[in-house]
Amino acid sequence: MAANKRTFIVFLGPPGSGKGTQAKILEKKLGLPQVATGDLFRYNLKNKTELGLLAKQYMDAGELVPDEVTIRMVEERLARDDCARGAILDGFPRNLHQAAVLDEMLAPYGGVTVTPFFVVDDDVVVARISGRRICRNCGAVYHVAFNPPKQDNICDVCGGELYQRDDDRPETVKNRLYVYYRQTGPLIGYYFARGLLERIDASKSVDEVTRMLEATLAKYGVA
Ligand code: ADP
Ligand code: AMP
Repeated sequence: MAANKRTFIVFLGPPGSGKGTQAKILEKKLGLPQVATGDLFRYNLKNKTELGLLAKQYMDAGELVPDEVTIRMVEERLARDDCARGAILDGFPRNLHQAAVLDEMLAPYGGVTVTPFFVVDDDVVVARISGRRICRNCGAVYHVAFNPPKQDNICDVCGGELYQRDDDRPETVKNRLYVYYRQTGPLIGYYFARGLLERIDASKSVDEVTRMLEATLAKYGVA
């Protein structure tokens, strides 16, 4: 068992709380890949795969993509070589069934290591989501006011064009928050009961949140 131990960090928190931003920073620092189910669906959509086209209907409505396809996609992703030491899970699990399946999937590797929970008020979340811009090419995340690119609408990293996600428009954001509270909210209790939940004040600056995350992860031997 010990020889197989891996590090799986599960980021929990509402859409727009800063999980992806922090996962991209920590993946470099920790050498663990970010596994973001939303990014995987968007990648499939961009490449017009069957999975991408199926996911689109749910994403556009702010609903969860059915468990069966989501879980299969995560299983395939975690089986890849770059997850040999573990991964940062961002956006998965999102309901109790996904959490239970993840526990089974990770049992041979010592299970989930820690669950940082991004705590932030709804009005902050709405402000962050409404100004979010993504690079069409490399997926880097910006905010028009809080984290603007050097040149309007151009990615600092790769020069790609920035766009606003369809599901970041106000009509969809409300339902995404509702779905978060109803379906993902119970995971707070699930991980608290396992002694894995670590609250992080995600209202602070990007740098401060990174520092808090690093201090928390260090307590679990992740550095
Ligand atoms: P999530 O992955 O949880 O949906 P993101 O990481 O995409 O959230 O962040 C949502 C938006 O908020 C993005 O536009 C990002 O640039 C911005 N953002 C992330 N963290 C912070 C922060 N600590 N302070 C201000 N804005 C932030
Ligand atoms: P995100 O990029 O994490 O905000 O996710 C965007 C959308 O992808 C969500 O609103 C869902 O439609 C879908 N999605 C992402 N992760 C999951 C998941 N674990 N289960 C079901 N649907 C998901």
